[in-house]
Amino acid sequence: MSDCLFCKIAAGEIPSDTLYEDELCYAFSDIAPQAPSHFLVIPKSHIASVSQIDRNNSALVAHIFEVIAKLTAEKGIGSYRVVSNIGEQAGQSVPHLHFHVLGGRDMTWPPG
Ligand code: AMP
Repeated sequence: MSDCLFCKIAAGEIPSDTLYEDELCYAFSDIAPQAPSHFLVIPKSHIASVSQIDRNNSALVAHIFEVIAKLTAEKGIGSYRVVSNIGEQAGQSVPHLHFHVLGGRDMTWPPG
């Protein structure tokens, strides 16, 4: 989508701290980290949020979770939280599917 921030980041049109990239997804450091380790994994194709996952794109989401497992293992992050906010009330500020990966500190439950 031409006016989507994360589409532009995935395409390299806006700079980011790249952690991983393949033909399907892109991982980069969050610009405002909420934990010692905080990165985002996004599909390169535009999907608005988890609410838009269906049988046609769910394999891509499974791939993203494989990448999350690989990156956290490589970084030695043994305990972490994966979060995806859906909609404004839940705190979604960028309408392109993304999974936050947060680690390196104690987490509280329930989240605020
Ligand atoms: P959410 O609020 O769940 O939609 O998450 C969006 C995340 O994107 C926030 O944690 C922001 O800090 C992060 N973010 C926004 N712009 C950038 C950027 N240019 N580079 C890296 N992360 C960003």
